[in-house]
Amino acid sequence: MIRQQDLGDGIVALVFAGSGSVNTLDRATNEMFVQLVDELLGNADVTGIVLTSDKRDFVVGGDLKELQAATSTTEVKAIVEPFIRALRRLETGGKPVVAAMTGSALGGGLELALACHRRIATDNPGARFGLPEVTLGLMPGAGGTQRLPRLIGLAAAAPLLMQGRRLDVQEAKSRGLIDEIVEPDRLLDAAKAWAQANPTASQPWDRKGYVVPGFPVHSGPGRQFFVGTWANLKRTGPGFNDAGAEAILQVLQQGLERGLDAGIAIETRYFARLVVSNDAKNKIRTLFTGVNQAKSLRVRPDHVPPSQVAHLAVIGAGVMGRGIALNAAIRGIRVTMLDASAENAEKGREEIARYLQREAERGRLRSTPDDILRHIRAGADYQQIADADLVVEAVFERVDVKRAVLQQVAAVVRPDIPVASNTSTIPIARFAEDISQPDRVLGLHFFSPVDRMTLVEVVRAAATSDSTLARALDFLKQLGKTPVVVNDGLGFFTSRVITTYSCEAMNLIGEGVPPQLIDNASVKAGFAIGVASLMDLTTLPLLRDIFASMRGDGQRIANAGSIAEDTVAKLVELGRVGKVAGGGIYDYPPDGRIPWPGLKEHFPPRDSRPVEEATVMQRLLNVQSLEAVRTLDDGIIARPLDGDVACVLGWGYPAHLGGVFAYIDRVGAAQFIAQCEALAERYGERFRPPQRLYDMARKGERFHAA
Ligand code: NAD
Repeated sequence: MIRQQDLGDGIVALVFAGSGSVNTLDRATNEMFVQLVDELLGNADVTGIVLTSDKRDFVVGGDLKELQAATSTTEVKAIVEPFIRALRRLETGGKPVVAAMTGSALGGGLELALACHRRIATDNPGARFGLPEVTLGLMPGAGGTQRLPRLIGLAAAAPLLMQGRRLDVQEAKSRGLIDEIVEPDRLLDAAKAWAQANPTASQPWDRKGYVVPGFPVHSGPGRQFFVGTWANLKRTGPGFNDAGAEAILQVLQQGLERGLDAGIAIETRYFARLVVSNDAKNKIRTLFTGVNQAKSLRVRPDHVPPSQVAHLAVIGAGVMGRGIALNAAIRGIRVTMLDASAENAEKGREEIARYLQREAERGRLRSTPDDILRHIRAGADYQQIADADLVVEAVFERVDVKRAVLQQVAAVVRPDIPVASNTSTIPIARFAEDISQPDRVLGLHFFSPVDRMTLVEVVRAAATSDSTLARALDFLKQLGKTPVVVNDGLGFFTSRVITTYSCEAMNLIGEGVPPQLIDNASVKAGFAIGVASLMDLTTLPLLRDIFASMRGDGQRIANAGSIAEDTVAKLVELGRVGKVAGGGIYDYPPDGRIPWPGLKEHFPPRDSRPVEEATVMQRLLNVQSLEAVRTLDDGIIARPLDGDVACVLGWGYPAHLGGVFAYIDRVGAAQFIAQCEALAERYGERFRPPQRLYDMARKGERFHAA
């Protein structure tokens, strides 16, 4: 919805006034915009046009739902082309056009502003300006790749386009995206005044003699720029998938050689191709739709009133306890961090202080280390947490230790507050049962490092009440996390699925497959780091303990035919620990990394035929998807999208594959079954597909619509 507002003296404002909390450029808005632009341009009484918003933000982008539903490039073009043409008419219509931005202008919103002759923003520290499409495997599709470099130069525009960074208002002004910053109550006056003072405004690129600022594409620096940027893109690794950034670079190179209209036509062509690509659809579904649904607390029981945590108790001042305490303190929450002794707890607090100091030196903190640290109190006396609003324990991963700690907690805190465990594997029911009022116990499984990993797996046990769940979710919202709610069970969702990945890698090591081959296969699949190297970083003794705790009753199909436990146990016995201790699967001489020579001796090749990289990749990916389907069958997760979000955010599963469920859609259920049956014959029953997949294949069903 767009309203017209008469600002007097022939100046008319088009006020974006969408029905939701933000303005997006959906089809209905675009159609209205096209019509209003033509009306205003054709009206001789109108001498200037102002684009603005009735909301805190200006316009925050296109409608991804509509783009996601498009299945052909023709359909995509039909959505964007009328809008693109209207922008062009607007900037060449002979009337001054001013963007009066109340707050953020992102994606299509910024592209709209770039088609105006003047961009004025308010002095709003929360506002962000940028073209973040690339983070979802897309690129700007409404002239952004052509107007931005023509405005600020190729070298300045390319990183903004290819990395999708969002700038605050001051930075946006200093980089030339914004012309003027004013107080909010002066916004419309300033816009009107500029329009009145510049009745014949035009765009720089439509003036005679215009050249792109900086250097032209066809120049020494231009060629150097493209060669260097291509090389950087390719250096990121074989499986690195950034089709959006590649397309942007192509469009910059081809489009800037030509006039604006030809450049925009090239942009539209690439944009439409990206929108219908499987990679972008996967990224949009998981990183946009899935993450936003999780952040909006879709499954929060809404009959429970909203809550806030003012005082958080953290038990355990180790890696995770410190991370959780710090994360909360940064958000202004008062934290008490307890450990087995006051000395231990104090050491943990000092470690946080050192970390904050380093972060401050790198300019990564908004407040001073002292301001943050002031929120954290360390100790060993449980009376200090008597008035806590929520407790998270992060002590050793042992049932007996956790039980004892939770009982001490339950004895002092208010009976109605959530008591959470950060266990990564142990079913919550195992320590909830002997606590009075087990309905207040749940799992909050944070990931390491806590300040950078946004996922929290929220484990709802059979006894967990709606109130406990709702209050825990409110707390995660306070922390800015992305919660995925799962049901209780050994390893929940994430540890259960990720363990199959590391187990399979260890199986391959045990079969004598060279670690570089295993690493290459996972990197080619799109993981940032090879899984054999990752195991060395995790450390092999820890991996051995994880495998042991995930063994369960020993009957789990995920372990059928696996030699992973024996392999890791043997490596540990042989003194192989991991990278920290000088060597694990690899040795780490000062100049790099070589496979430990003992591997060949202790794990000779089982197969006379060399194992192909494609088979290794299939084993590493299929084993995860199979276990994920079993968690769905077991009721651990409610829907595939939750699992896809959890694996992409939780262990860096390649976003362009969408996630462990989307991967089966990509391969096709029938083909996936055929692959798994062959793997089951050769490597064991853990590859046997669950019945659900046969049913899906028969009915031609998928986990996700598109
Ligand atoms: P850690 O060994 O770094 O820290 C554990 C802390 O608990 C230590 O400071 C220890 O002194 C303290 N502690 C032990 N017994 C205690 C007691 N009785 N009372 C009070 N404090 C006690 O371990 P961590 O890596 O921080 O892991 C903690 C928990 O988080 C475990 O359950 C682990 O499975 C889980 N987790 C770890 C990670 C990870 O990547 N490290 C990720 C997710 C979850």
